[in-house]
Amino acid sequence: MRAGYHPAMPDRGGTLKEQGFYKTPAWRRIRLQALQRDHYICQLRLSSRCTGIATEVHHIQELESRPDLGLSLDNLTSCCWYCHEETKTRKSKPKTISGVRVINITDGSDDES
Ligand SMILES: [Zn+2]
Repeated sequence: MRAGYHPAMPDRGGTLKEQGFYKTPAWRRIRLQALQRDHYICQLRLSSRCTGIATEVHHIQELESRPDLGLSLDNLTSCCWYCHEETKTRKSKPKTISGVRVINITDGSDDES
């Protein structure tokens, strides 16, 4: 168990999530700031089950692809649980960008709640 998260931390072979990013005080602090900025209102409205009440904070640019934006308030948006799940569902589907097939593999677990 590490005490903190540092963006320049050398790659130890795991994802940031596996390295405990979501357990760091820095994340908890910025997450709360995002929720307060958005007044705890879901900003995504992706899901038909959207409650409108934000309990999650979503990385607009994925944490794994832009770890440098992991603690940037501009890259965070508040959302409800259902919409957050929706982003994962959509993300996990194969998608085509500029003719390149991109497949994201997610472990499906999320200890952030
Ligand atoms: Zn929602």
